[in-house]
Amino acid sequence: MTWAFRSYASTHSVGALIAAASGASAAALGGLVVAGWLTVAVALIQVLPGLPPMQYNTALGFMICGAALLTAALDLRRPTALLGGLAMIIGFATLCQYLFQADLGLDDLLVETYVLAGVSSPGRMPPNSATALMLTGAALLGLSCGSAKPCRHLLPALLGTIVIALGTAALVGYAAGVPGAYGWGHFNSMSVHTALGFMLLGGGTVGLAWNTAQGESAEAPPWLPVLAGVAVATVTLCMWYALGTGPRLNLPAVAQSSGAHPGLPNVTLAAGLLTALLVGWSLRVEQTSRQRARSLAASNLALSEQSHARQRAEETVHQLAAIVEHSNDAIIGTSLDGTVEIWNAGAERLYGYAQGEVRGRDVSWLLSRRHFEEDVFSRMKRGERIEQIETVNLTKDGRRIDVSITVSPMRDRTGKVTGASIIARDLSERRQLEQMKDDFVGTVSHELRTPLTAIKGFIELVADGDAGPLSDAQREFLQIASRNTDRLGSLINDLLDVNQIEAQRLEIRVEPTDLSAILEDVAATFRAMAESKGLAFGVRIDRLPSLMGDGPRLVQVFSNLISNAIKYTPEGEIGIRARLAQSGIEVLVHDSGIGLSKDEQALLFTKFFRARNPIVTETGGTGLGLVIAKGIVEKHGGTIEVVSVPGEGSHFRVQLPLPAKL
Ligand code: ADP
Repeated sequence: MTWAFRSYASTHSVGALIAAASGASAAALGGLVVAGWLTVAVALIQVLPGLPPMQYNTALGFMICGAALLTAALDLRRPTALLGGLAMIIGFATLCQYLFQADLGLDDLLVETYVLAGVSSPGRMPPNSATALMLTGAALLGLSCGSAKPCRHLLPALLGTIVIALGTAALVGYAAGVPGAYGWGHFNSMSVHTALGFMLLGGGTVGLAWNTAQGESAEAPPWLPVLAGVAVATVTLCMWYALGTGPRLNLPAVAQSSGAHPGLPNVTLAAGLLTALLVGWSLRVEQTSRQRARSLAASNLALSEQSHARQRAEETVHQLAAIVEHSNDAIIGTSLDGTVEIWNAGAERLYGYAQGEVRGRDVSWLLSRRHFEEDVFSRMKRGERIEQIETVNLTKDGRRIDVSITVSPMRDRTGKVTGASIIARDLSERRQLEQMKDDFVGTVSHELRTPLTAIKGFIELVADGDAGPLSDAQREFLQIASRNTDRLGSLINDLLDVNQIEAQRLEIRVEPTDLSAILEDVAATFRAMAESKGLAFGVRIDRLPSLMGDGPRLVQVFSNLISNAIKYTPEGEIGIRARLAQSGIEVLVHDSGIGLSKDEQALLFTKFFRARNPIVTETGGTGLGLVIAKGIVEKHGGTIEVVSVPGEGSHFRVQLPLPAKL
């Protein structure tokens, strides 16, 4: 039970809780009085002897409305509508009995009346109770409908307020001895506990309406001042009427007023209506000032968030400034026209100029005239980033330094390019290292090649029998030694070539070259090798115009492509096709071999790449041939590309321009 209440309370607002509590209390009150009528417990029906009783139908009405409040608080719309409608009908039918002086048989339908103190129509619900019951039923009916309109909560709240006011007026009437406040005309009067019960029902209804209104906004409903005004005005009107009608017949002596002043009703009316206005107005003022305070707090919060954000931004700016200042690279900020605005300590170290010497000066003296004037700044203005231009700069003391420069556009909040950030990195150290590496590779290769030549020479001498006759086994071993010496020699050559290509120092001899003849020769050289492996070798070489290039180097390229085609084709065919194309000369080397996956193709022209394929692993190779072939072809101004499907074969296309661009 406690758990159920807790879980209900955690998911519903205070308004719904009030409604549930009031509903339960009203239903319990009604239940007690019904029990009183059934068991002849007069103390339950009549609060004090002589005071008006709570009629059986009224008690029943409390049970119905109490239950409806409970179902409404649990969001059960249909039962709420049914119970609310029933209460409304009972209230309305009773009022009709009064209005048309009719007897619909409602009064003693369920119980025969036996408490008759202050009762003019035995068993009949008093007209003020009937009105209150009808209004409560209507309010509950309104709350049960799913409409999203504001009237869904405003109207029920108003009706609930009137019900509270009717109950309050009756209680005030009892307290002040004004019978007209709890009994209308000469009809039956509302009992004390009926008045209390209606206050509960009215309060529950307003609570529910509040709950519905809060679902749409977090604040108290704007109609609250109206309700307060209406409540006071209704009580006032009841009191004005009661005071105007004077003492009544048939009423207990305790409740009679004695000799009221004739002007009292009008004074009460004026004071009450004024109070209603004041209450409504002061609540409205309070509500407005709360709203103002809330919006003030919200703008305060926004302001303090803004100031935090500004603080954070300032901190970030300081951190960035520290990074820029302590960077080893030269970082230079310029305006759109190239005027230096930022010059960090790295720039001071690299160029030797202090910040004050260069600030406000044009940056063009720094970037090589070629790059600067051609397009660096115009590209940057278009928002492009220019990555790592390698150039030479002059330092303050006249030294020439190799630098790599990256220019990026700087943008304002709107994304408009407002300047450039230039990062210059000193390449001297890198260049020195590269030089050392080249020298090292050169020396090592030379030192390896010299003894290798000697080894090869002596192997040949021994194989030729210059050192005496050889057995077959000795000759075979010497052949193996010779083959391996060749392999070592070509590996050294490949390493040297790759080193030169990487350092962009590959040199080629340029002369008119007959590529058709070169290709015929290469094909002839490899034909025997292909055929010994059982591969068909298709050769179709058109007569080609002579190109400007390095013959031996081109032999190297096509030998590598054809030997690869043979090596990586276990069976099937290989071929070479050369023709004059629009872009120059096109040579296609194809095979029906193992092929290459997309990932392998992406790595194909990188150093030491060899596919993870048993056929590749079993075959000798260094993974340098294609890197060298690409370097040579590009040095001729051409391109090399591959189209390959794993398991189906590869097509290598080499394009060489005519005349070769060198
Ligand atoms: P190598 O053949 O000495 O290994 P390459 O640079 O000539 O070195 O080739 C690199 C790698 O590319 C080879 O190991 C092989 O895996 C792959 N490759 C080259 N040509 C072909 C081809 N025609 N078919 C399939 N794979 C090839």
